[in-house]
Amino acid sequence: MIKRMASKFHLRNHGDTASSSSASATSSAYTQSTLSHETRLSISTERTSLHEWVKHQSEQQHPAVPAAAEEPATVQVRRTMGAYRLSDFIIQRTLGTGSFGRVHLVRSKHNLRFYAIKVLSKDRIVRMKQETHTRNEQMMLKAVQHPFIINLWGAFQDTANLYMVMDFVPGGELFTLLRRSNRFPDPVAKFYAAEVALALNYLHSQDIIYRDLKPENILLNFDGHIKIADFGFAKYCNTTVWTLCGTPDYLAPEIIGNARYNKSMLSGLPPFHEPDISPVVLYEKIAQGPSCVKWPAFHPNATDLILKFMERDPSKRFGNMLHGAGDVFAHPWFAEVDWKKLLNREITAPYLPKIASDGDASAFERYPEENAASQYGQMTPDPYGDRFPDFDYTSS
Ligand code: AMP
Repeated sequence: MIKRMASKFHLRNHGDTASSSSASATSSAYTQSTLSHETRLSISTERTSLHEWVKHQSEQQHPAVPAAAEEPATVQVRRTMGAYRLSDFIIQRTLGTGSFGRVHLVRSKHNLRFYAIKVLSKDRIVRMKQETHTRNEQMMLKAVQHPFIINLWGAFQDTANLYMVMDFVPGGELFTLLRRSNRFPDPVAKFYAAEVALALNYLHSQDIIYRDLKPENILLNFDGHIKIADFGFAKYCNTTVWTLCGTPDYLAPEIIGNARYNKSMLSGLPPFHEPDISPVVLYEKIAQGPSCVKWPAFHPNATDLILKFMERDPSKRFGNMLHGAGDVFAHPWFAEVDWKKLLNREITAPYLPKIASDGDASAFERYPEENAASQYGQMTPDPYGDRFPDFDYTSS
């Protein structure tokens, strides 16, 4: 399944994954089919209603006072979004589902290209108190541009739903590849971790925290390079925040402990995972720290780096100290990584998704369509019409 390539990141064993690696003494519980759906789902409580980003943006557009040189670094909105409407697209199939709606593969009637459209029910968003997160998602995606982050083309709404038009990323979720492979050999894990490190470093340099990093949210592009998707919990943050959000397996101790946190959340594997573990026990283990983790036979440098990311004190955590992400880039586990080449996508990815043609979505699981698409664009009451001003109103 995973092809042998020349790069140092690549697998040494053609057609085989977990079983052939020398470092495979213990396969990660994470990749077992026992991984519960509950702990994979993103969660959030709206502990904060302060919308720093909106405040920040409106201050940028209508500054009350001239910008002073010592003002904190600010995020610039990258570009004006295109104007789209539902009738510009033909909906092909469902690619994924979330708490508020679906992501569909669509085809533009104009340029015949394929895109992904995320559809979110305004009613469900408001009922689940996720308005701020939804507005953040659109604004953060609009503000960022990076080779390893999904591209947003536009956002619009009708009376019932919000729609976000994104590039279609055809290779499927890294989660699916990991599950099929059981676990990745060290060089493969290193390749994906290094690309994630570059993407997170970029976000942090823009004062954006991502807050829901997990293999389900890392998609693979046609060339095997990553695209981080789902900015539902991303947030502008140049000080500290305290909303509880993320996915149970990956929550940092300070989030469970209800403390303020900042850009220091950078984690990879869910080391505390156990089959059928209750969230309460999981949170206790995370609060207890790495001492209760049964370590698989990772490369010692990998274990060292993970432990440094699992540091309980955020001020001593790797990536959040004096040298910021520089400490991560310089860690011995990443010694052979040419960061510049990696950023330029000059390193061939370890796995090339099999894509038969444009719009081939076979890398994605099938979901019951339930006639969802036929519900879109209907005239319905619109009690939340004024809650999402950054989504254009376009008639269908
Ligand atoms: P989300 O609600 O953003 O996490 O999306 C749910 C699922 O839809 C993801 O886990 C992916 O499987 C799929 N998905 C989201 N965005 C895209 C995209 N741009 N291209 C392809 N699949 C996507």
